[in-house]
Amino acid sequence: MPPIRRVLGHVSVDTARARRKCHRKPNEHSITKGEACLVIKEQGQGSKKNYCRTCARPILQQAQADLDLLTTGIYGQNTE
Ligand SMILES: [Zn+2]
Repeated sequence: MPPIRRVLGHVSVDTARARRKCHRKPNEHSITKGEACLVIKEQGQGSKKNYCRTCARPILQQAQADLDLLTTGIYGQNTE
């Protein structure tokens, strides 16, 4: 069996080993050592952007909504 293709490979959660800036509000938010943060790898470039837990939430909610749209687009509203 071939492995299932994973489409969210550029998104991950990381534990900061040192202080990081939050990409959305770099002057207001920082990610402290030991704190979990969302890391998004930019396509093409090797750069990564970090988001604090506050800013990660709407990003993850949007991703969830997008996934739900894809799922209902293929299977319709009422399928499990
Ligand atoms: Zn933030």
